[in-house]
Amino acid sequence: MSKDKTMDEIISFAKSKGFVFQGSEIYGGMAGVYDYGPRGVELLNNIKSSWWRATVQLKPDYYGLDSAMFKDPRVWEASGHTGSFSDPMAECKDCNTRLRVDKALEKVDVEADEKMSEEEINKLFSEHKSKIKCTKCGGSNFSEVKAFNLLVQSNLGDFTGKGDNPVYLPGEACQGIYLNFKNIVDSMHPKIPFGVAQINKAFRNEISPRNFLFRTREFEQADTQYFVRPNENKDAYERIKHERWDWYVNDLGINPENLRWSQHGNLVFYAQDAWDIEYNYPTYGFDEVEGVHDRGDYDLTQHSKCSGVDLSYVDQESKEKFVPWVLETSAGLGRIFLAVLSDAYDIDMLDGKERRVLRLAKDLAPVRVAILPLLKNKPELVEKAKEVFNTLNKLMVCEYADTGTVGKRYRKQDEIGTPNCITIDFDTLEDNTVTLRDRDTGEQNRVRVEELASVLA
Ligand code: ATP
Repeated sequence: MSKDKTMDEIISFAKSKGFVFQGSEIYGGMAGVYDYGPRGVELLNNIKSSWWRATVQLKPDYYGLDSAMFKDPRVWEASGHTGSFSDPMAECKDCNTRLRVDKALEKVDVEADEKMSEEEINKLFSEHKSKIKCTKCGGSNFSEVKAFNLLVQSNLGDFTGKGDNPVYLPGEACQGIYLNFKNIVDSMHPKIPFGVAQINKAFRNEISPRNFLFRTREFEQADTQYFVRPNENKDAYERIKHERWDWYVNDLGINPENLRWSQHGNLVFYAQDAWDIEYNYPTYGFDEVEGVHDRGDYDLTQHSKCSGVDLSYVDQESKEKFVPWVLETSAGLGRIFLAVLSDAYDIDMLDGKERRVLRLAKDLAPVRVAILPLLKNKPELVEKAKEVFNTLNKLMVCEYADTGTVGKRYRKQDEIGTPNCITIDFDTLEDNTVTLRDRDTGEQNRVRVEELASVLA
């Protein structure tokens, strides 16, 4: 990571190059909501494809799923979200700015246990609140702490407008997996252990959305639940932890020095173990990008109890019947996106000039290769360049770039992370070779047109 890389720089870069925009910006912007622009959606989709390939398609023991976002409201009762999916909130009495108390305490090196009662956290907060400053007015005149439920409600099917039995937007992606556990067992007949994976949206009424894509109110989660026999969790948990780490390093190309593991100190009562993978975000420092949780049989047992449907697994050979234990991985795609973008962003010197370059892994880049005719006013060059473009674009994402000098066009492609540029010049017309330029080194080689597809693959 270049030393002076800051998050402000990344945010303004992301906007100016079409990666990420503030949601509803022309109306003043909506807190905690972001839109992915033309470059961003390509990068995001490539991250998702990489995850799906590694997690589902390359693993014979994993099944994919795409569950509906709306769920029976009882799902959120069973999961405990209506009762305890909350964060402690206080309000500045002078300017009404809301504060997430546990995170504010963390900043002054005080840890608030998730299991604390409202009374206990109020006591802790009043002991330390003189050290905490309101983010807007700088004062320390705060209200009492209240638990604020993060679930977002909808009025789906509520034709009376009374809102008696609200349908919620998903607070997390994994519930859809538990709801379909029986469907998957009955339709796919998986042998235990097996996993189910899905990417789904999640919504949380975050008290103070902040840190760009890090804490938003709408986001996507890439989740897996791995179902194992009771007490056969330990080895599988270690293996899953390794696999998740390797995906960040090998598939996303993230520098391992910017990643670390962090174990949860306070476990929820049913959990056996919980670790987070943290990324060293510019300016913000290390923080959670993915959780890997060893959850016991809590989730399936809860849904069995609350739905009245038996969610046990029956081993077809031994006829043993049991409620599987669950190993969960849950990653926020916005946080992964921000880690990938931050890690790839670099300012270096090339040919004696400073340049901005996005060193994205080849499979993640929004554009895989740019095709440049040396001059756009020479029909024979344009015709050849279009021919190369039309051939390669069937195999990988290409961009046709004909504006400005070739040097400037290279720099523009470097900024969005395009791994290679191909220049069609007058020699191409003679010997059917092109210049193939490498983003990272700036190195240029002559390659025959008919070999381009295999060289780039
Ligand atoms: P945090 O402690 O940061 O609030 P969490 O422990 O509540 O996160 P989980 O409920 O375990 O998070 O969610 C799994 C993943 O979903 C997290 O690792 C993170 O990547 C992502 N995530 C959670 N909340 C948000 C959010 N508000 N904005 C963006 N991503 C989020």
